[in-house]
Amino acid sequence: MSTKRIVILGAGESGTGAALLAKRLGYDVFVSDKSPVKPEYEVALAKAGVAFESGQHSLEKILNAAEVVKSPGIPEKAEVMRAIRTKGIPVIGEIEFGYRHAGKCTIVAITGSNGKTTTTMLTYHLLKTAGLNVRMGGNVGNSFAGLVLENEGLSNLVYVLEVSSFQLEDIQKFRPKVAVLLNITPDHLDRYDYQMDNYARAKFRINENQKRGDIFIFNAADPVMADYITRHPLTAAKQVQVRKGFFKNGSIRIGKRHTFDMTQGKLRGPHNMFNAACAVRVALSLGADPAKIQEGLNTFEPPAHRLEVVATANGVTWINDSKATNVDSVFYALQAMTGPTIWIVGGQDKGNDYTPLMPLVKKKVKAIVCLGVDNSKIIDFFKKTKKPIVETRSAEEAVREAARLAVAGDTVLLSPACASFDLFRNYEDRGEQFRSAVEGSVFVIPKESVPSTSAPP
Ligand code: ADP
Repeated sequence: MSTKRIVILGAGESGTGAALLAKRLGYDVFVSDKSPVKPEYEVALAKAGVAFESGQHSLEKILNAAEVVKSPGIPEKAEVMRAIRTKGIPVIGEIEFGYRHAGKCTIVAITGSNGKTTTTMLTYHLLKTAGLNVRMGGNVGNSFAGLVLENEGLSNLVYVLEVSSFQLEDIQKFRPKVAVLLNITPDHLDRYDYQMDNYARAKFRINENQKRGDIFIFNAADPVMADYITRHPLTAAKQVQVRKGFFKNGSIRIGKRHTFDMTQGKLRGPHNMFNAACAVRVALSLGADPAKIQEGLNTFEPPAHRLEVVATANGVTWINDSKATNVDSVFYALQAMTGPTIWIVGGQDKGNDYTPLMPLVKKKVKAIVCLGVDNSKIIDFFKKTKKPIVETRSAEEAVREAARLAVAGDTVLLSPACASFDLFRNYEDRGEQFRSAVEGSVFVIPKESVPSTSAPP
């Protein structure tokens, strides 16, 4: 049994998963988290007899590691990382650690700026419906290391993993049999020195260790990807390009042989047709029966907080798209709107450039309801549209204002383009508060509300 010392930085889902796996493998494990560790992870670590510290990094207990497993949220700029790098201690991420111990299995890895969770969940559902022995995790649900521990000893497993760019930064040999890169649009640029190329490089690492016989599914029409590929050749994996033109008349066409009907399922909008096409490609490449794939498409329950219709009352449709935390996802949400829209937007700005939204806002948005502590950037940018703009500071107030502005035939869309942390715990909390405010109020709202024309200050 090895007594190599492994130090794990961060005790969230991935750090705890890595720690429990490392302990099981017989390593000398120490976990260090600068923030308070959540009670459920504290309990799991203590129960497994893993030594850990919460609320601090004690360098004397960290710098004696033979290897460090870093959680994705910890940036290289963090003081503790600088000390580790200066000492020359090898660093990997939890995905790499899980991969190292996963044994014989098939890995499907899915990344992109938007659509990862939807595509990962759909891929899992299609494969499960087709009868494969499949598990899902990574950046959604359970950590990969946690899954590897849980499924120790099982063979013929397919792991469908959502992987973020942060997670891909710390891989070394991670080699998915099937890799999917959905899109690359500006997000998290603060972590990448505001250089799109740095962000793209992290995303393309999903293909870095793929070899002949593996499959790389991507959208070559995505301008950032197309540009990146001209400068950085892909590996020998088989390339499968999924383009937006493959969806017509409510169905997606895959090659000459397969057509799948998308009208019976719950996925809506062109972006979801693209996500579905990618998931179908994965399922076909792993030998799933096309009839089972169709069945899976029909029965898939899309994840909450993504263009989710939460109510229709008095002719007004209320949509929760709280997960839209960047400009590109709002672009697709607005594109999917078919009638006049009251747009609830705002929160913690991530260096947003709203320019791509302007034509859609001019065309489809009837009024803007800001929901954030500081709304000045949004107001300054959109005031030239002369649309009514109001400011609110809670989900309840936003719903009340939207209800006042809405008339039958309108849609109220919460699609914030921003992080939620200024007013909410996270995007789920924002979506849930929106949902309960809608449920609590829309059914008592007078039908003939008069749209406000109040201009911003
Ligand atoms: P991620 O896990 O990458 O954040 P999600 O599936 O959770 O992706 O969706 C996040 C947001 O992006 C939602 O608002 C959703 O409607 C939108 N979205 C989903 N797929 C795409 C896509 N292919 N292109 C652009 N936006 C998308």
